[in-house]
Amino acid sequence: MPTTIVAGNWKMHGDIALAKTLLSAVATASEQLDHIELSVLPPAVFMPLAEQVLQNTSATWGGQNIYFEEQGAFTGEIAAPMLTAFQAKYVLVGHSERRQLFQEKDAVVAKKFKLAVANQLHPILCVGETLSEYQGQQTEKVILRQLDAVLSLVGIGAFAKAVIAYEPVWAIGTGHSATPEQAQQVHASIRQHLAKHDLAIAESVAILYGGSVKPANAGELLAMPDINGGLIGGASLKADDFIAIARIANEQVNT
Ligand code: PEP
Repeated sequence: MPTTIVAGNWKMHGDIALAKTLLSAVATASEQLDHIELSVLPPAVFMPLAEQVLQNTSATWGGQNIYFEEQGAFTGEIAAPMLTAFQAKYVLVGHSERRQLFQEKDAVVAKKFKLAVANQLHPILCVGETLSEYQGQQTEKVILRQLDAVLSLVGIGAFAKAVIAYEPVWAIGTGHSATPEQAQQVHASIRQHLAKHDLAIAESVAILYGGSVKPANAGELLAMPDINGGLIGGASLKADDFIAIARIANEQVNT
């Protein structure tokens, strides 16, 4: 069984005061959540603070992005070893905002995934279709294309360290979540696709749902058999909401 993970993607939000508030809420809550893994993905400059506040707790932390080279003249970029220097466990790869706003193509996403794994980071590979792709019934085709780009570069073995996040682009930050049934269908097809390469890896990889998850809809989404947690954007910036979602996830695993 995959570990259930609730991860908060802060995006480019928050100041030091908010970071401290959120991290200490996560530190406290993580001690009571013994069935799930609670994780935060703050902006990279807050990585030392995340390490300081969370290092003696069961919570984990990670980055939102890395560059696909380990070092060099790449002004403004963050290297994988710079995250691991602060004990980061995860890094988001291929978030739809990176794909759309920063023109990251499948091939670039695959290179970042490869570099993350090579540097002992666990990539959280985000896949998801846009609204027009959804309306054109292209969801499965798009998701499998995004997965295959990574699989063909790194092979299935690298997925033993990975987490996948299905995030329909039309659901991110819009307040319109996929229904539990819609999400379950996509999660199941991701797992079936991986199973064609390696059954054990397919069965153990955590597939998170992301897209307007909040305390009000977390229970029904997390009840689905192939939804192994959530990638939470907006609600992760409100400590009470984020912890409430984590408690719901913890309860689901417990029952
Ligand atoms: C995200 O950006 O990963 C996300 C899921 O955002 P939100 O929860 O705000 O839709």
